[in-house]
Amino acid sequence: MLPSPADAERIVLENIFTLPAEHCPLAAAHGRVLRAPIVADRELPPFDRVTMDGFALRSAAWAAGTRRFRVTGMQAAGMGPLTLRADDECVEIATGAVLPAGADCFVPYEETARDGEFVTIANDASLAPGRSVHARGSDGAKGAVLVAAGVRLTEREVAVAAACGDAQLSVGMRPSVAVVATGDELVEVDAPAVEPHQIRRSNDVALRAALLGGELAARVECFHLRDERTEVEAGLRRIVAEFDVVLLTGGVSKGKFDFVPAALAALGVEKKIAGVAQRPGKPFWFGVTPRRAPVFALPGNPVSASVCYRRYVVPALEKMLGVELAYPDWVPLANTTPGHPTLTRLNAVRLIATPDGRRTAHAVACNTSGDFAELVGTDGFVELPPGATEVTAGTVARLWAWK
Ligand code: AMP
Ligand code: MG
Repeated sequence: MLPSPADAERIVLENIFTLPAEHCPLAAAHGRVLRAPIVADRELPPFDRVTMDGFALRSAAWAAGTRRFRVTGMQAAGMGPLTLRADDECVEIATGAVLPAGADCFVPYEETARDGEFVTIANDASLAPGRSVHARGSDGAKGAVLVAAGVRLTEREVAVAAACGDAQLSVGMRPSVAVVATGDELVEVDAPAVEPHQIRRSNDVALRAALLGGELAARVECFHLRDERTEVEAGLRRIVAEFDVVLLTGGVSKGKFDFVPAALAALGVEKKIAGVAQRPGKPFWFGVTPRRAPVFALPGNPVSASVCYRRYVVPALEKMLGVELAYPDWVPLANTTPGHPTLTRLNAVRLIATPDGRRTAHAVACNTSGDFAELVGTDGFVELPPGATEVTAGTVARLWAWK
């Protein structure tokens, strides 16, 4: 019996090893997977930071009725703290400056009137200790973990790392990936002429774009092998020896020219999965080379290839990089869509958000697993367990977003 998609995913992940970590300059860290936590090297913020322009004074003086204060200095951002010496004095202060020693309170320019070296505070101003002061340590204690390992770095984590003085980060090494198209019908995208019986290579081009755009690979190289047993085997021998991950498309079904499984077997690639109880993507094949490098053979049909890539290859590569696995996502169906009595259906959907705050998945009608133009504008696919030939609107399904 063929494994279900969940079983197939488990088998794949059991055979995937996380790659070592490497150092990466902060400027190149966006999209990489953090492998050592980002820790606060000092309190955040490191001093009582004033967040507006105005005057710093003592709240007790204000509470006792003082309204007119002598301005004794200017506290600019970047200056060490001045000292406020008397109740009827204040210090002019700029956004981002440290609250002067002896002051506990702040009033913005807008609530004051200046005359020479004095300033008068409006009676209706509301002064309280801490007003407009971003208190030292209020965002994080020294030593606090601000970003955990396993996070994919965005500009937000990069900002935190910069604030903590981390010019280098420990990130997961990314694999080199070979994307191998097979098939005599395939021609290059820029082939000068394409015969009616020929097909332009699109799967491998799409996979390379997904791998690089998703920061899942350090290097991606595309290859094309013809449907010829010795060529497939010789080509794969070189490729399997060189790359950390091999991604094949086509040649994996039961056809007369589908030489991929036999060629991989001849190279000592150990078969772990040969077919999954799903549609599309039933011929999906997975194995590991003698040096434990994963080999994924995706069906050639573009929709099947896309679905299998997202369902099995992306989680595997994320594990290699050290990504903490994300929580599953669920969504109700907006329309009734085909199911299958014995196979899990993976149906492409467009997500629709409505003003009442709900999100539903509108399944698109894919003609066949070759109807890849149908995928344009979709957001992912829903996973519909076997059972009925139709899955009704309102059913809640597991969602696999393309991204
Ligand atoms: P196969 O799995 O080799 O039987 O291929 C199934 C279908 O997918 C055939 O119609 C192929 O022409 C098509 N196909 C295979 N590889 C590619 C590719 N790299 N780009 C676009 N279509 C492909
Ligand atoms: Mg083929």
